[in-house]
Amino acid sequence: MRIGILGGGLAGLSLGYFLGKKGYDFAILEKNTETGGLLKSVNVEGFTFDVGGSHIIFSKDKEILNFMVSLLGSNVVRNRRNTKILYKGNYVKYPFENGLADLPKQDNFECLYYFIQNLIAKEKGLLRPPKNMKEWFYYTFGKGIAEKYLIPYNEKIWKYPLDQMSTVWVERIPQPPVEDIIKSSLGIPTEGYTHQLHFYYPKYGGIQSLAKAFEEPMKDKVITNFAIKKIKKEDKKWIVSNGKRELEFDKLISTIPLQELINVLDDVPHEVEDAVNNLKFNSLITIGIGLDKPKLNSLSWLYIPDKEILTHRVSFPSNYSPYVAPESKSSILAEITYREGDKVSKMNDTEIAERTIEELNRLGIIKRDDVVLTTVYRFKYAYVIYDIEYKKQLKIVHNYLTKLGITSTGRFGSWEYANMDAVVKMARDVTDWIQSNTNP
Ligand SMILES: Cc1cc2nc3c(=O)[nH]c(=O)nc-3n(C[C@H](O)[C@H](O)[C@H](O)COP(=O)(O)OP(=O)(O)OC[C@H]3O[C@@H](n4cnc5c(N)ncnc54)[C@H](O)[C@@H]3O)c2cc1C
Repeated sequence: MRIGILGGGLAGLSLGYFLGKKGYDFAILEKNTETGGLLKSVNVEGFTFDVGGSHIIFSKDKEILNFMVSLLGSNVVRNRRNTKILYKGNYVKYPFENGLADLPKQDNFECLYYFIQNLIAKEKGLLRPPKNMKEWFYYTFGKGIAEKYLIPYNEKIWKYPLDQMSTVWVERIPQPPVEDIIKSSLGIPTEGYTHQLHFYYPKYGGIQSLAKAFEEPMKDKVITNFAIKKIKKEDKKWIVSNGKRELEFDKLISTIPLQELINVLDDVPHEVEDAVNNLKFNSLITIGIGLDKPKLNSLSWLYIPDKEILTHRVSFPSNYSPYVAPESKSSILAEITYREGDKVSKMNDTEIAERTIEELNRLGIIKRDDVVLTTVYRFKYAYVIYDIEYKKQLKIVHNYLTKLGITSTGRFGSWEYANMDAVVKMARDVTDWIQSNTNP
């Protein structure tokens, strides 16, 4: 049995890795010149930037975590997270609810006061359960934390009205114990999101080193520069074409975004086309900035909820690993999300880079004069948006693909907020399913 894996991001690569171990014959078809998808890293004059956004390796699942780390061999460093939120010029410890003492006193008081008031109201049954993301923030954290940080930041990153978003994603946010909120307000140190407190990162080569480590043992199975343009079925065989070349498979596993997959299939019912067109997502611009300065700070990354500033998050790659910047230089990576047709989507790369540098300079994060280079990248698919309707639409699309016999997985094939660990886990599960249902 020959399996066609559509897409060579981490999902496609990890599928190939697991299927190969079980003795299956397969090929990975990737449209770009290199595999990795969002795990793309570029080297510009000795600065390595993860241009699909800052990526760190972490997981609650120790087995998957150890597996990913082991693939890197000795090319790995372990860091302790030192992340902050820039709020009214203050560097507040992350997560926000664990850093209340870093806020101006009045803001700190309001966060604590409304948290407690909210808790009492909840205990008395005076609050109705939240129906959307915005309500969930109020319900879980109270008006103070919700309005000062969670709502502005989330509006900024999702670029979608929070009262039209489902609670599916936020329900995975750990709810802080009340003791922690009080301690945090008083300045007694506590840690949140502890599964991410320590993280791994490749020593050299940026996050793409992880994709390369997956690819290494199966390089001969990877076909790059193969943009899938048409998929059809003939006599129980799948024919996949890039417009120039046709390849034949017995089974297809797709990891390309659902929209892209539906687009290359023939005779798709209107209902399915409508459903896939109703699935919402946002896109990403990254600006890598090289600096002629030995060390900028000791931060891992910094959240910027202020809506007047374009970027919502900047990370400091040379603090993850000093080997991703030339000696005595440092680097910073800014992320900006957008949706097609909005103001940011219409700005060109130069405007975006110049404005970002100006704003980071104004905020005191970098000095304009230290900038030695910038590089700008765009990714169409960055985050799936869980709007209120998405489950209904997704079901229509997935049911259709199941009927055709195409398995769709990965971040944009499953249509989930899936981090690398979740994507690798999905690939392992799909491989197990194939093994228990077919012979190699
Ligand atoms: C800003 C940001 C930060 C993140 N940070 C982290 C982090 O710190 N830690 C973490 O664990 N996860 C992180 N993630 C999540 C991580 O990036 C994903 O889990 C992972 O990259 C998804 O891999 P994928 O293969 O499913 O998708 P993709 O990487 O999108 O891969 C899909 C592949 O399909 C190819 N393709 C598309 N259309 C076609 C076509 N027609 N023909 C052929 N090929 C095609 C694409 O070129 C691409 O290579 C982050 C994501 C973002 C956006």
